[in-house]
Amino acid sequence: MKLSFHGAARSVTGSRHLLEMASCRLLLDCGMFQGRREEAAAQNRALGFDPRSLSGVLLSHAHIDHSGALPMLMQQRFSGKVHLTRATADLTAIMLQDAARIQESDCRYVNKQERRRGTKCVQALFDSDDVEAITRRFVGVRYDDTIKIAPRVTATFHDAGHILGSAAVRVKYTVRGNTTTVLFSGDLGRSHMPILRDPEPPPPCDVLILESTYGDRLHEQAGEEMKQKAQDLIAHAKAHKSKIIVPAFAVGRTQELVMRIKELVVEDRIDPIPIYIDSPLASKATEVFRHHPECYDAETYRTFTEDGDPFASRYIRFISSPDDSKRLNAMKGPMIIISSSGMCEGGRVLHHLKHAIDDEANVIVFVGFQAEHTLGRKLVEGWDVVPIFGVPTKRRAQVVKFNGFSAHADRNDLLAYVRAISPLPSKVFIVHGEEKQALSLGAAIQNEHPAIDVTIPHRGSSHEI
Ligand SMILES: [Zn+2]
Repeated sequence: MKLSFHGAARSVTGSRHLLEMASCRLLLDCGMFQGRREEAAAQNRALGFDPRSLSGVLLSHAHIDHSGALPMLMQQRFSGKVHLTRATADLTAIMLQDAARIQESDCRYVNKQERRRGTKCVQALFDSDDVEAITRRFVGVRYDDTIKIAPRVTATFHDAGHILGSAAVRVKYTVRGNTTTVLFSGDLGRSHMPILRDPEPPPPCDVLILESTYGDRLHEQAGEEMKQKAQDLIAHAKAHKSKIIVPAFAVGRTQELVMRIKELVVEDRIDPIPIYIDSPLASKATEVFRHHPECYDAETYRTFTEDGDPFASRYIRFISSPDDSKRLNAMKGPMIIISSSGMCEGGRVLHHLKHAIDDEANVIVFVGFQAEHTLGRKLVEGWDVVPIFGVPTKRRAQVVKFNGFSAHADRNDLLAYVRAISPLPSKVFIVHGEEKQALSLGAAIQNEHPAIDVTIPHRGSSHEI
């Protein structure tokens, strides 16, 4: 078997790993690079392998940095199937359509400015036809079912507890009576997250491909401290009639926020203020959440069977039309606007930021990971002037970061995941983490298990396994 890495190697985005066997070539994830516009576009166009030669794709979950380059396979005559869980199939379909739409509208906007300056125009990576074509290749599977991918090759999807439908994917390859098992962690979640079940313990494997987003960090607990911080923020918004802008992933994080704010209201800790979920994708994603109760944890399943809709409330409004979205810009607070994208790389949140960023009463709240070079990262790092739609914009609004919301395992969770594999794998490849995170986690694993061969692969590198 040969394993090569074509993204998310010493970086976070663009998750793409190629597993080659005599009988087939499988791509693990097909993610999009995110970050500096031109650089990311170039990386996205250079896949690093020929899609025509692929037998299939195994998709760990719907996040765009794992699924966002799938439509580009169709432009290059990919003819295989995409295997994924049923919830991931539904989520990925709406997320890719949304990505196509955002790219088209961002390109239009940027190109209008570029034409004015006489500089080069940008082009969308794919359109909705490409998305439709790839979704026709989706084959939804159930958790823990073993499916045959090719002669002598099977795959199983294990609940990763990261977002709805997320999985760690195990590939088994048997040749002349010898079986090699590769486990790809995808993104691992955490225990005790709202809505989702805890990550399943890892099955035995010979080779582990492990994410390391938080390989060098420990999370704040999403406990009392975070609740107090949220309570104070909402009180501040009420007193100052301010807007709280929350750039959040439309899938997973938005639904989690709704659940957590509802909890504060139920516990009588806040008077609810209007919450606008301004993202057509979030509305659609919430619909997908409603259709997949098989992914819920026991508590959410109980709310679902007893109250019907776990995601609704009188102070929550889902905004769909662009006109209603624009109206929010002129409206006075207090209000919470939850809008995507989570890293401020596109979408409606950019318009809300543009209108709210110069008022010091307003607050921009980050509840998710911010990749290097994104606008979200710049805001978290405290830049006073940030580019919005390419225009340097002065920031007066406060920026607050909540780390407790992470949907990712932290350093201790990742180390515990490796420890739980019995017997231990002989090889571990560390991916999906910035270099510092990946190196630190790799060193810790090596230190704890000297017998494991630990590699932190570079993009483009190939390894015999
Ligand atoms: Zn993810």
